[in-house]
Amino acid sequence: MSETTVPDETSHAARVMSRLPLNTPHRFYRGGERILAFRGLEVPPDFDGHRPEDWLASTTRLFAEGGDGVTVLDDGTRLPDALAADPEHWLGAAHLAAHGVEPGLLTKLLDAGERLPVHSHPDRTFAAAHLDCAHGKTEAWIVLDAAPGACVWLGFRDELPADELADLVEAQDHRLLTALNRIEVSAGDALLVPGGQPHAIGEGVFVLELQEPTDLSVMLEHRRFGLEQAHAFLGLDIPRALESVDRGPLTAEGLTALRRRWTDVGGTGHALPEDAAEFFRAEVLRARPDAPATGAAAFAVAVVVEGHGTLTTGTGPPRTTEVGRGDVLLVPHGAGDVRLEGELTVIRCMPSA
Ligand SMILES: [Zn+2]
Repeated sequence: MSETTVPDETSHAARVMSRLPLNTPHRFYRGGERILAFRGLEVPPDFDGHRPEDWLASTTRLFAEGGDGVTVLDDGTRLPDALAADPEHWLGAAHLAAHGVEPGLLTKLLDAGERLPVHSHPDRTFAAAHLDCAHGKTEAWIVLDAAPGACVWLGFRDELPADELADLVEAQDHRLLTALNRIEVSAGDALLVPGGQPHAIGEGVFVLELQEPTDLSVMLEHRRFGLEQAHAFLGLDIPRALESVDRGPLTAEGLTALRRRWTDVGGTGHALPEDAAEFFRAEVLRARPDAPATGAAAFAVAVVVEGHGTLTTGTGPPRTTEVGRGDVLLVPHGAGDVRLEGELTVIRCMPSA
């Protein structure tokens, strides 16, 4: 990209890296104060307490609840329009050839101010067969902070026959939650949640979340959260929707394969278990004063999770910006390799390779 083709400094900056503004659509559950604190923002006087998700570099709209969610860059361009205008710059030729002009990834900060309902997301096979959608919604949680004793729930401990699952969904009582594996989490945990696996995030858990780019959820628990039945089951008949649910068991061994400690990475390495790679990548870059960290060119949401330093992109005229905990940057593939200097940790959320 030669600089002479760029009309002004604002769009030039967006082509190298953009600081992503807060993008917190209203949701049915509480939360959001940890997002504001992480981002270094005051709680606004009109804060309604229902802003628990910050959608980062989103080309996805909410399935219900108003349909917001798409990211607008700081020069006012909607991200899908920016991508469409120069897809090779943003996504790189290899990604473009394999996946077309969509990142195939939705990244969020999520602050659970209350326990989320037990829900699941369809996998790709079910979404293609019944929802006319190429993506399911496998997701992953990178725990950035958690209140003492806070937990998540993932997968049925014992296999649940289809009629028992239907009975539990009909009853809408505590048994749906207690049938799941309960997992205490702390900052540094990472979990992969395959499409189909029922799950819930507990109160006080703050995560960086990667997902396939849909908003398709089967809300197994919905009554106590006041969700409409039509939205709770994706507009499908309930028995059909429940066919998308993995009825288990998810054993201790199975759970181990879905977990990792992202804080164990020194230098550059994967935050997520291997099986995530088919859907998305999360790369930890940890720089120390005597050891910069580097990453290869990629369309990436770079979230500074610890410390302070500089981020430099490599190609064209190099561009360096000061960054610190809570900064979120969108870096296009065409900006080149990235280099971190200082004492900081960045997690780069990227499409599958
Ligand atoms: Zn989920």
